[in-house]
Amino acid sequence: MDKQILEERQKAINWSDYEKYGCPKCGCAISHGTGCNGGGSMPSQCFECDHKFVVLADGLRRSVIGFSEGQDEHKNDIFYYPEYEKHPREGTPKHKYVGPDLRPEYGEYYSPRGLGYDLASFVKSKEAGQRVVEMYQEVFEETEDKEKLKDLFGSTENSAWLDYRPEEPKWIQVKINYGNKRKMYALTKLISEKGNIITKEIINQALDMKWTLLNIWKYEGINIIFNMFNINTIKEVIEKAENASYSYNSIESIRNISMQNKFLYYGTFIELSKLIETYNDGFENRQALDRYKDKIICCLKLLNDYINSDSFDIGENHSDTYYSVRKNYLAEGKKVIAEMLQADFE
Ligand SMILES: [Zn+2]
Repeated sequence: MDKQILEERQKAINWSDYEKYGCPKCGCAISHGTGCNGGGSMPSQCFECDHKFVVLADGLRRSVIGFSEGQDEHKNDIFYYPEYEKHPREGTPKHKYVGPDLRPEYGEYYSPRGLGYDLASFVKSKEAGQRVVEMYQEVFEETEDKEKLKDLFGSTENSAWLDYRPEEPKWIQVKINYGNKRKMYALTKLISEKGNIITKEIINQALDMKWTLLNIWKYEGINIIFNMFNINTIKEVIEKAENASYSYNSIESIRNISMQNKFLYYGTFIELSKLIETYNDGFENRQALDRYKDKIICCLKLLNDYINSDSFDIGENHSDTYYSVRKNYLAEGKKVIAEMLQADFE
């Protein structure tokens, strides 16, 4: 067997040595177990240098777990079982894991994880996280129009903090509260367009944002964002409506259709409004959805008519169930549309 293969074989050290000296190659104190842990033999991989090794219970001379190093002529795996070795770094105490403090040319790497109770984003290192918190702090101090801060971050005080856990040194996050979800979503969108890099300029851009920057569709001066990942649902809805030989081409043609058909389409509008409800979640597939833009906006106009009218004609000769289902649709639609039309779109 040549030397190359021998070098790739995993070394086995014992637990007491591992506790004192860490990774046999670099001395890092943190490794992850690689899944199986049997009979006092634990395969591990160093967090810092990715070196693979086996930790044996004290007193054990040979790994109980075997590692395949190829196959024989009968296609049976050939295993070897790492033998105990003296720790190569004996005498040199282990060191804490320190992630590389990577920085782009300008700004900081910053990968938002999506909007939950707050905006949590991964950063590359503890130092990078501290710098991002500082960056937010500077923006808060330098922004004169405090209302803008309140709108985007829900407060005029910086709430950014570094979530660093020594036991999870590769899971470093900066968390910050937000106010207007759509606006914060726009900030994360800007950051991702820059290749997951945050800068003060980007934060300021989000603070100053007028929604047209993102080419968000407008409905009578009001911006509407759709949830793009539901493109297939939208297609289905449109097809359903088209198959009912109904034209969305003009708002007049919608008004002229029979009440029964209106109810049919009303269900369609509810489907659309459900999509609108989740407008924060994504801008994917915009191109595909653009094809349906006019039709959808037409639907919205009609829905808006309903919402603004005092009476909603339910027609005659329908059962109570029909009536109540329809009332529920209307109530739900009103809620969604009210949310959609609220003034914070600017
Ligand atoms: Zn190492």
